[in-house]
Formats: sequence, C-alpha cells, structure tokens
Amino acid sequence: MNDVQSPATGAFQTPVTCRLCGSTDQIRKTQFTQLYSQYQKPYHRVDWWQCSTCKGMFAYPVPDIGTIIDHWKTINYNRAEDVPELHNARQRMLGLALADLRRRRVCGKILDIGSNYGYFLQEAAADGWTGFGFDPCDQGVARTRELGFDTRQGWELLEAGYPDHAFDAVTSFDAFCYVWHPYETLQEIRRILKPGGAVLMRLTNKRHIAQWTAQRMDPGERLNMKMTTLLQNQFHSIAIDDLCSVLRRLGFFRFRIIRRASTAPWSRMDRRSLIAYFGAESLYYLSLGRLNVSPGVIVSAQLNPGESD
Ligand SMILES: [Zn+2]
Repeated sequence: MNDVQSPATGAFQTPVTCRLCGSTDQIRKTQFTQLYSQYQKPYHRVDWWQCSTCKGMFAYPVPDIGTIIDHWKTINYNRAEDVPELHNARQRMLGLALADLRRRRVCGKILDIGSNYGYFLQEAAADGWTGFGFDPCDQGVARTRELGFDTRQGWELLEAGYPDHAFDAVTSFDAFCYVWHPYETLQEIRRILKPGGAVLMRLTNKRHIAQWTAQRMDPGERLNMKMTTLLQNQFHSIAIDDLCSVLRRLGFFRFRIIRRASTAPWSRMDRRSLIAYFGAESLYYLSLGRLNVSPGVIVSAQLNPGESD
C-alpha cells in the first residue's frame, strides 16, 4: 500500500479493503485525483485507488453529503419528459431491461435503487410488477410517491431497513457507480432478494478506458481533468467481467450481458460516443467476446431458486 504524503490533501487516508470486491490485497493509489466540482467553491479533490484483485478503481474517501449536494448544484438536470428524444432512448433501454426480466420468468415485487422520478417503476408496473423505490433526492422521491410507489429516501441501501428476501427483483439504472459501499450494497441486494430473484443493473463501462488513459499520461492537473471528464461524478468503476465474478461469488448465476444499452438516441449521439460504441463492438468480436468495452451495458443475473441463506 502507498503511504505517500500529498501536498494538496495532506496525508492520504488509505483504504483497508477494496470497495468493490472486499479484498484486502494490494490496494494502490492511482496516478490521478478526481476534481469534484463545487457550487461557487474550488474543486473538492478525491483520491482514487485500484485493487489488484478485481482491477476495480474507486474513490476513497468519498465526499461527505454536503460536498455531494454542493456538486449537484453545479449540474443542470433535465427531467426526461422535457427532452423527448432522450426520454425515448431511455425508455428503449428500460424496455430491454423489462424484456430480460420477462425472459427470466420472474415477477412480483421490484425495488429500483436510484428510482429517480419513477420512470422505470411506471414501465415495470405496466408489465405487472409491484414497484418500490429508493433514492436520496427529495424531488425524485416525492414524485415517485405521487405515482403511488412505496419509496424510501436514503443514501445507503444498507440503512434502508428492508427485510430479508423482500423482493423478486432489484434494479439499478446508472446509480450503482454512485453508491458509497458498492461491495456491501451487492451483499445487501443478495440479502433482500428472494431465492430465484434477479438483479439487473445498467452500468457505464469505463474501467478499461480509464486505466488505459491513466497509464498513458503523466501525473498532473491535465491527467486529473481528463480522468474527471471521463469518470464524471461516479465513485468507482469495475469491468463487467470482474463485476460478474464478484456477483458469482455472492451466489448469482445465469448472467446476461446486454451491450449497446445506450441512454441516448443514436441519431443524436456525438461522433466520439458513436465511435466508442461501434469501436467497442469491433473489439468485442475481434477478441472473440473476451473484451467488452461497450460504454453502456446492462448486466443481469439470478439467485438459485432453491437457495436461501
Ligand atoms: Zn477489488
């Protein structure tokens, strides 16, 4: 482990375990610092680490709640219905998720972590699910409740207080990369799922490109800015295969990976994003399916129906 002193942040707080897989083996500091923007204040600097077991990269320590809220004030959030083309592309992606759950023949109670304004729960309800929401954001929680979904407000699933085996499916769309304790959150998802229950997550798939970028630039503010732009405001990044290994260890199986799960319409996507998606497809086929760098991916898996801990 690295115990180098940072002139910018003082002594590093070195993580004892990997946030993504729980390993205590060789966690080393990355070459870059995430510049977390703050409303009318200088950047909050976040140290990033990499685990040699799962190759995952993660922020540690994560910013406190006040710092996260100050960051939100710097972002211009669009309600999906205000941008119809984006809304339609997102609905298409949510449709892929529901089709996956239908194929698994699971139905009943579904918990959406990061339920946002309840868009997915509305679609899920139309598909026969009873929806439950969980989100830290006041406005999103209020609207999801108005839509009639039982929604708890909170930052950590671990503190939500759901009973064992409460849900037939747990979903999360672009929210997992913000959770503070990803490994414990995955364990918690497993605990609250019924035997045979399904987990489904839409993820941005940036670990390969983040590592590649970090290795090819000298440390400094240029690299910090490049990585900040790439990672945006997420707190960790793990490759899809490595995430599947972690989930497998927790008892999940029957994995399904949907590549090209974009949330933006192809017709509106900028050239760089199009190249990223279609370049990733070429790499996937050239590597005979071993390298998946598709920018947007849905991962789903299931617990054994006969299994109960
Ligand atoms: Zn790890």
